[in-house]
Amino acid sequence: MKFKEYPYEHLDEKFVESEYQNVEKALKEAKSYDAFYKAFQDLDALNRKVETMSNLSSVRHTIQTNDAYYTQENDYFNELIPHVQNYRDSITKTIWNSPYFEELKKHVPPVYFLKKEFGMKAFDPSIIEELQQENKLASEYQALVASADIEFDGKHYSLEGLQVKMQDEDRETRKRATKAYWQWFEEHEQELGAIYDKMVKLRTQMAKKLGFDNYIPLGYLRMERLDYDQNDVANYRKQVLEDVVPFDNMLYEKQRQRLGYDQLQAWDEKIEFLDGNPTPKYDREEMVKRALKMYRELDPETGKFFEFMVEHDLLDLDSYPGKAAGGYCTFMPDFESPFIFANFNGTSHDAEVLTHEAGHAFQSYSSKENFPFECVWTTMESAEIHSMSMEFFTYPWMKSFFEDDVNKYYYSHLGGTLKFLPYGVLVDHFQYEVYAHPEMSHEERMATWRRLEKQYLPHKNYEEIPFLERGGWWMRQLHIFMDPFYYIDYTLAQVCALQFWTRMQKEDPKAFEDYKKICKLGGKLPFRQIVETANLKVPFEEGCLKDTVKEVEKWYENFDESTL
Ligand SMILES: [Zn+2]
Repeated sequence: MKFKEYPYEHLDEKFVESEYQNVEKALKEAKSYDAFYKAFQDLDALNRKVETMSNLSSVRHTIQTNDAYYTQENDYFNELIPHVQNYRDSITKTIWNSPYFEELKKHVPPVYFLKKEFGMKAFDPSIIEELQQENKLASEYQALVASADIEFDGKHYSLEGLQVKMQDEDRETRKRATKAYWQWFEEHEQELGAIYDKMVKLRTQMAKKLGFDNYIPLGYLRMERLDYDQNDVANYRKQVLEDVVPFDNMLYEKQRQRLGYDQLQAWDEKIEFLDGNPTPKYDREEMVKRALKMYRELDPETGKFFEFMVEHDLLDLDSYPGKAAGGYCTFMPDFESPFIFANFNGTSHDAEVLTHEAGHAFQSYSSKENFPFECVWTTMESAEIHSMSMEFFTYPWMKSFFEDDVNKYYYSHLGGTLKFLPYGVLVDHFQYEVYAHPEMSHEERMATWRRLEKQYLPHKNYEEIPFLERGGWWMRQLHIFMDPFYYIDYTLAQVCALQFWTRMQKEDPKAFEDYKKICKLGGKLPFRQIVETANLKVPFEEGCLKDTVKEVEKWYENFDESTL
């Protein structure tokens, strides 16, 4: 069956409600553990069905946003899901109070219970109003940045659209575009600062109502940080500062020399090579063909997986009118099908969709039979291990996409992962300071950002952009507003992925076996245990980054820059 033939079924609100009520009743009235477990399985089947239809309608809406039916269905699910969440919460309490609860624990992975406990600790009906206000503020932020209409060289650009000009090969164009971009933020500084201030105060208020001193522990609960805390993260940030920042300074210095500039300016950072960044040499059809060959050669299991994706039309990669922006990977449990959505644009991004998003898809495909459904996907920081590691495991095939640009690709991709770490950590550290001191004024928050930025990104040169010199960069980082404390996850996963890269350098034959092992594991374990199962070092451990950076350093030392 092709994706377009996957049957969609409208789930009536009354039907969904009665199904959940029936399950809850069966759980409550079970006269034996077997009957209880049977009801628990029914609950899982129902959850999978809701998830499948919700994701199917969302995919069909995003691939054709002017399709009236699926747009309506997608809106319908946005309304329905909060109700479903209520039914599920109520059922969770029933399970917890059941005489069969202890017996159930023997048959279901502990992480399932841990996640539910976190959910219960992070919620109380007394914070519903704050949660609604938080959503409203998030929409306000999104609407404000989406409303940006910047005139540049006689044309109108969104903030997103202007990025192309900010990476223009002409340095003067880049400079003017960068200044125009930040000017928009400067003009909206007070508005953005006020939205954020309200968010910080709301979140702090929620935390206090739930009995916490400040928002940080609540943020960790909401992010499902199941087995590490803010002290672990603080220790990790310190390692990034000590081990990665000096290495990155060297990379930026090499970049400056390669470009032949006196100083690397804010508008030069994305430019790695004067004659252009590496690009794949083929169209979408040919790239998918090459990806199929690549995955067959990598491993029989990845081969089987990618054949499945191609045969069932589970890749929507072209950019065309009516298609939503962005990219994602999702999963439809009842069809046992991942789905990859992207907008190819002719840059190295296209190859990364076929590696990174395919890594996510391969993981969900590998763990699709996990029970219950909550254990198919992992929590955020673990999920990115699968995707980021796949970017490295497919390195040996990158020539078939980039051809003569392949060395440029390796050089900038590997360096890019190291350059990202201090930035990701800075975003986390800033939020830590903000929520530890919620009374800070807007000006104090700006100054805090700049102070930390100078530590983690000392190469930054803002002489010509006073707004950034005052500490305004964070205002463009969506996660800081929308998903507090979600960001360090990418860096934690990256450090794990880099360890796989290191093992590949040493031709460790077990590396890919370990990778497959954690893909199958899916969300059955929390982060630390997943990392340990993969025979990798947990990023919080002393010395974890030192070894990795040493290995990357060696690679750069041995690299012949004349091949770029
Ligand atoms: Zn990802």
